[in-house]
Amino acid sequence: MKKYTVYLGACSDYNPDTVASIIETALTHISLAKPISGKILIKPNLVLVHPKVAPDCHTRKEVIEGILKVIHKQGSDVEKINIVEKSGLGVPTASMFRRAGYKKLKRKYKKNNARVKLCAMEERRRTTVVLEKGKIHSHISIPKEIKERDFLIFAPKLKTNVLAHAYTGALKLNIGTIDGKERLSYHHHQLPAKIVDILETANPDLVVTDGIRMAFGGNQMTQQGTDMGVIVVSSNAVAHDMVCAKLLNLDPFKIQHIQEAVDRGYGPTSFDEIEILGDFPVEKAQKITSQLDFGFYPVEQFPCNFKIHSGIPYCIGGCHGIFLDWLHMVKDRKPKRLKRFPPLNVLIGKVNETIEAKKVLLVGECAKASPHVKAKKVVCIKGCPPSHKRIAWDMMVRFFLLAPLVLPSLIFDAYVLYPLKKIKGWFVNLKKLL
Ligand code: SF4
Repeated sequence: MKKYTVYLGACSDYNPDTVASIIETALTHISLAKPISGKILIKPNLVLVHPKVAPDCHTRKEVIEGILKVIHKQGSDVEKINIVEKSGLGVPTASMFRRAGYKKLKRKYKKNNARVKLCAMEERRRTTVVLEKGKIHSHISIPKEIKERDFLIFAPKLKTNVLAHAYTGALKLNIGTIDGKERLSYHHHQLPAKIVDILETANPDLVVTDGIRMAFGGNQMTQQGTDMGVIVVSSNAVAHDMVCAKLLNLDPFKIQHIQEAVDRGYGPTSFDEIEILGDFPVEKAQKITSQLDFGFYPVEQFPCNFKIHSGIPYCIGGCHGIFLDWLHMVKDRKPKRLKRFPPLNVLIGKVNETIEAKKVLLVGECAKASPHVKAKKVVCIKGCPPSHKRIAWDMMVRFFLLAPLVLPSLIFDAYVLYPLKKIKGWFVNLKKLL
């Protein structure tokens, strides 16, 4: 029996009216578990937005506007609409809201007396929730807007991600609902369990994916885009992700976080339970994606002058994946720079072979436990795993290898504005305690 529906709507350009009409048509086929009413929360993907180095990896404002139009038409007793996000790479979310055009969108809807609010997570009041079914998290801290919402809409970007078995979608968007140390803890081989733990508190009632242009093949923030022409709509995150994986020619049951969500009963166990509707053929997407290289392979196979030694554990969501992501970032935006890399020995995970070299780079805590390293100089990048920001910083100051994101505007964002926003968030939460 088909218990789940996923709607694929053909959409060739970023027109909010077309997006709204696709969602409306989809909603005539999809049954929602609850009405669109009360406090609505929209969670987009704004991991990084920059016109030069990250133009294609975020949920475009036209898709959000399409969703807003549907809420205003079909919602009942809508109290407010919060758009909540936490960007990546330690840059302020408010800057990403501005760069993505969300602030203009908010002003436009304010004129229509709609209560649309942009909430940068690092500046908001937080609240702790207990996870009864959590495998690794017994509790997490989330913004109060997420806890108090009545209806949750996820608006992911259709794109590949080497940290998540080449696919990121509705389930992986959950990582963006937590912040700070919690976001990186267990962000290693246990990432799939972590993603599904969070689903307990942020399981979307509706998913609308921006697949008009999809991004593929490199770093999740800087990779290139290509025209795909689809809006994906569903009321179940697992069914949604299974169908999106199919569009990308991937086997969803080999994507660990999807399999984990299936095992924990969050969605269909096979495609037999999913009805795929709409005017966009799956084969069309498969034809496009079959030509694409997703860049998801073992980090030691990345073609560059580094000699990368991969040890245990192999952490796709941790050191191995994040270092591969950094290499992709260079390849995406400054490919010639790869040729200038020195012949450096890089150890990721605990490596048991004997390494003899002048200089050795150890990425992450496990690499430090490698027993047979003989080198004049050993450089460590700390963390389990180290963050993208730390890797980019350490590679710059220790090896003079600049990531393409080292731009004045992003440096100002990351090292001046972001700490100020964090201080603001700290005061907001302190006031709550007093
Ligand atoms: S230090 Fe790195 S390799 Fe070791 S468990 Fe953490 S993320 Fe994995």
